[in-house]
Amino acid sequence: MNKTVIALLALFASSVTFAATPWQKITQPIPGTAQSIGAFANGCIVGANPLPLQSDDYQVMRTDQRRYFGHPDLLQFIQRLSRQVHNSGMGILLIGDMGMPAGGRFNGGHASHQSGLDVDIFLQLPQTRWTSAQLLKPQALDLVAADGKHVKTALWTPQISNLIKRAAEDNDVTRIFVNPAIKQQLCLDAGTDRDWLRKVRPWFQHRAHMHVRLRCPAGSLECEDQAAPPAGDGCGAELQSWFEPPKPGSSKPVKKTPPPLPPSCQALLDEHAL
Ligand SMILES: [Zn+2]
Repeated sequence: MNKTVIALLALFASSVTFAATPWQKITQPIPGTAQSIGAFANGCIVGANPLPLQSDDYQVMRTDQRRYFGHPDLLQFIQRLSRQVHNSGMGILLIGDMGMPAGGRFNGGHASHQSGLDVDIFLQLPQTRWTSAQLLKPQALDLVAADGKHVKTALWTPQISNLIKRAAEDNDVTRIFVNPAIKQQLCLDAGTDRDWLRKVRPWFQHRAHMHVRLRCPAGSLECEDQAAPPAGDGCGAELQSWFEPPKPGSSKPVKKTPPPLPPSCQALLDEHAL
């Protein structure tokens, strides 16, 4: 799929509330040993845990959506990163969508977050804890300028680079998605230590948050990992291509039927989503 088509799909996904998906009928994790199954954008999870809602180091947004479930590896990553960030005086980590109790497809928004290994984290780090009203209706801080090519200099801080770098340096993290303008700023901010930039991938939207993805956990035998990102810091031609106008004829819409569910996820739906 080319980028224009993906952009159109992303626009469609963000502006339309889809009908309920069967996954929303499953309101509790499926008991069992934790297993992430299938792909990040077509999968499910057995034995998910809820992220503890009480913490000194992070706060969970939109808890009414009940999207704070994930593989224990994901919970540990969030706890590890937020402790590091809070202990170094950078502020409180604001946690957005993780996954639903059994994973699977949400009724709108993103296509991934299905196997309990993805989390959205705000790039702003408040020093003062948010109130429950603020957490239920979070005000996203749009860091990207109107031209889509730069960050807003008045809002950008070295701390934001630092937060993304710390997340990228975590061994369990394979990819972090941010807006191309944010990736570009990271490329400018980074000194000679640039290895971590390889994991930071430009993507549509993601103007106020980073989307962090973990590797398939050991023992999740039906989990499908992605190939590693291309070698290098990703600051060259590939990044620049995001700032160029789409080539003529590249915007042909493609009709895409979703792939069939992994059999284990289908079986789980058949049993639990009645
Ligand atoms: Zn996300």
